[in-house]
Amino acid sequence: MGFSSLNIIDPIARALREEGYATPTPIQAEAIPVILEGSDLLGCAQTGTGKTAAFAIPLLQLLSERNTYEKKRKIRALVVTPTRELAIQIGESFKAYGRHTGLTNRVIFGGVNQNPQAASLRNGVDIVVATPGRLLDLMGQGHLHLRDVEILVLDEADRMLDMGFIHDIRKILAALPEKKQSLFFSATMPSEIVRLAGTILHNPAKVSV
Ligand code: AMP
Repeated sequence: MGFSSLNIIDPIARALREEGYATPTPIQAEAIPVILEGSDLLGCAQTGTGKTAAFAIPLLQLLSERNTYEKKRKIRALVVTPTRELAIQIGESFKAYGRHTGLTNRVIFGGVNQNPQAASLRNGVDIVVATPGRLLDLMGQGHLHLRDVEILVLDEADRMLDMGFIHDIRKILAALPEKKQSLFFSATMPSEIVRLAGTILHNPAKVSV
């Protein structure tokens, strides 16, 4: 089964061909249709399964289809991930799959000077990929707000909890609109993760690979 059976819009299908992706991985085949329908998602998947594309492709497609033509771009999708390396990788994936969509993304993470990151947000951006601490710092200083977010992705939720980010995650959740689509990914599902997912997700589709 190729990507064509998943009804991917042409600008993204073209980028996937350019990336050399011929067939969706199992998590992509399962997750992409339910995300495109607007459902929340609870995904149990490790890195290496193609989970980044499983959320990045439908997220780009949903934002493209609902293009709002605002003068200044607003942050319409937020991906929260535990480490700088993951944030950079996810940002590169959005850039690759979204290269023909006109959508823009920025990556923000701690451990480096925040001024270039703050400056990069100034002219507006569609998608932000961030680690929790730096996201809250920039938000606290008024460099970004999350009031217009339509789609939230929590990536590697179990690792974020292990790294002590639970309070940061709760603060980020509190800054998001009530009405949004939430996609929650974790490699493991201990009870604390199941509880957290339960507070965030509404009637989620469940995908496990
Ligand atoms: P991830 O699990 O998101 O870290 O992805 C693992 C690797 O698989 C990345 O290098 C992706 O570029 C690659 N990949 C993801 N989806 C596909 C696909 N459908 N076909 C070929 N490679 C893929």
